[in-house]
Amino acid sequence: MKNALIFGLTGQDGTYLADFLLKKGYNVFGTFRRTSHKCFERLEEMEIFEQITDIKSDLTDYSSIQSSIKQSEPDEIYNLAAQSFVGASFQQPILTSDITGLGVLRVLEAIRENVPDARFYQASSSEMYGDYSGIKNEESPFNPRSPYGIAKVFGHHMTIHYKEAYNIFACCGILFNHESPLRGLEFVTRKITMGLSKIKFKELEKISLGNIHAKRDWGFAGDYVEAMWMMLQQKNPENYVIATGKSYSIEEFLTLASEYAGLGDWHDFVEIDKNLMRPTDIKDLVGDASKAREKLGWKPKTSFEELVKKMVDHDIEYTKLHPSRRT
Ligand code: NDP
Repeated sequence: MKNALIFGLTGQDGTYLADFLLKKGYNVFGTFRRTSHKCFERLEEMEIFEQITDIKSDLTDYSSIQSSIKQSEPDEIYNLAAQSFVGASFQQPILTSDITGLGVLRVLEAIRENVPDARFYQASSSEMYGDYSGIKNEESPFNPRSPYGIAKVFGHHMTIHYKEAYNIFACCGILFNHESPLRGLEFVTRKITMGLSKIKFKELEKISLGNIHAKRDWGFAGDYVEAMWMMLQQKNPENYVIATGKSYSIEEFLTLASEYAGLGDWHDFVEIDKNLMRPTDIKDLVGDASKAREKLGWKPKTSFEELVKKMVDHDIEYTKLHPSRRT
């Protein structure tokens, strides 16, 4: 039986990946940060928490990274931990660089020193591309437009460096946006679906949004974690774009979600707040996952419409069961 270690277990992708790996028969270890409140909500919702060995570790703390690696003796290591919210990276650029950028280097150093034969996956991001127009593939240039994107470029190049310099089996998945009912509440898709659910049950009057014209390539997180695992099963470590190949605006997401929630025209309960506009934004991000399709045999299974419905259904049910929570 193989051991897998997930940095960022408690996040959206960490939860879906842990579930996926458990079903594949892995011993799953995962890291969490010490907080003053419980942070295993997603794992509990998925009913998998009891099957995972959780280890306290922080990406800003090298010794705890090293301990987690020694304790888990991993065959595969997935680094999903990050300050992952682009908006917050403008307010906390130094913290974001420390966790999302330098954190990757700390993990790579701990691998080099302790488990050089382990296979490593780094969660790179479409935000690394920035605002060049056109569909992006593995060869497209990076032009990041946020501290988050810049930190991810650092982690991406460090991962390639450790592969080339120390022969570590290290892959980067350049994932485009992927959402789910477990997406963090500050991310725009979940802000919309949870907000609409609360409006439906009269717990909220308005949703405030920033630039609703930004377009993103949105897939379902459950489909995307399979691609992470597939990358580590190949003969050679390579980088792959994971995307659906289609982009939709936030306005299109909102329109579909509002109709599906039975609320109709959203103009009555959505306000545009200029304070939520980012200092620099990306107009449109769409990815070309041909390499993943050809080499890994991966393709997305969930359509944009199915994704929106899945999220709305979940949040309506959640709000019904837990009135006035998760505001
Ligand atoms: P989440 O924000 O849901 O999860 C991030 C995880 O990182 C959480 O477990 C969080 O812990 C953990 N974390 C944050 N700071 C630290 C730290 N200092 N030390 C250790 N762990 C920390 O993100 P997702 O699951 O959506 O994304 C997973 C990865 O994929 C991230 O690296 C993200 O940047 C990247 N990515 C995501 C995309 C998406 O659309 N979802 C697209 C492209 C890349 P806690 O629960 O305590 O906050």
